Amino acid sequence: MSSPPPLHDRRDTVPDEQAGAAVSTGRLPSPEIVMAALERGFERYRTDDSGVIANYIPALAGVDPDLFGIAVVAAGGAVHTVGDAAALFSIQSISKAFVFALVDEALGHETVRQRVGVNNTGLPFNSMLAIELNAGSPSNPMVNAGALVATSLVPGQSVDARWQFIRDGLSRFAGRPLEIDDGVYSSESANNQRNQAMAWMLDSYGRLNGDPAETTDVYTRQCSLLVSATDLAVMGATLADGGVNPLTGEQVVSPRACRDTLAVLAASGLYERSGDWLYEIGMPGKSGVSGGIVTVSPGKGGLGTFSPRLDAAGNSVRGQRVAHYLSGALGLNLFGSAPTTDA
Ligand code: GLU
Repeated sequence: MSSPPPLHDRRDTVPDEQAGAAVSTGRLPSPEIVMAALERGFERYRTDDSGVIANYIPALAGVDPDLFGIAVVAAGGAVHTVGDAAALFSIQSISKAFVFALVDEALGHETVRQRVGVNNTGLPFNSMLAIELNAGSPSNPMVNAGALVATSLVPGQSVDARWQFIRDGLSRFAGRPLEIDDGVYSSESANNQRNQAMAWMLDSYGRLNGDPAETTDVYTRQCSLLVSATDLAVMGATLADGGVNPLTGEQVVSPRACRDTLAVLAASGLYERSGDWLYEIGMPGKSGVSGGIVTVSPGKGGLGTFSPRLDAAGNSVRGQRVAHYLSGALGLNLFGSAPTTDA
């Protein structure tokens, strides 16, 4: 199999002397440095029109392809935005990260590892083959199979109670009440036969904790929640801040649920390109087919981006490029260290 093209071009490379100190501890650079880097990243990629818009959900095909928004929210609560950071889009697969965090919080580390799994499939996000190859295991909560199982495990006696739990939980991550895009919800509901089939297949393996049709419906609703790049940055900053939303001060999930979620994102957040992403950006992230990406710098903050044109794996092209640029410019790569000065 040939390697996919690189995530970035030569212009992305930030010389070491210009880059923030890439160490996995500490805080973000000063607000002035963060804002200047956001503006530079925006200017670098605003005219990049590579990639194509997702059209397998008809309602996504009508979006303005040139929208481009970037937001950084620091763990301390400072908000920095540039471009179309307030533009709303359906959260799609990015919901998987936050539903997993809520389910991990409710059920615990070991139960979700056993029932959902935490290993990369190496196959597309909607692969049926991955379920069959793994004897019914959904593999991880970032592919549709694992996301359907996670959604089925949400606490609640009725479908409405489970849906409320998810909507309230994601709203607490965002720090504001999130609403559904009815057009996206009905469009995806009319075209989600593959997800329905997957839910029935998982049920045949005894993996689903609920009715397959109801579970697929709740999953489709969670994917249709509207967010902005700024919302994603706040949600990411909450995962970066031990589960405390830095704007509202609310403890949304525990530090342990954040750690579990970020580990899963690092392994599987960017579809089949999760390895390339971790290699180049060095942070956990999650993308969705409507063009959003949330990136988390633990202890420092969250980055939210929105740009609808996608690469072949379904990841926003500009989003990946600007995340790569900002990872270097702000010194965010988790694997960075400075040589010790101890004797
Ligand atoms: N709702 C979409 C699906 O299940 C999400 C896809 C994505 O963002 O990866 O197909």
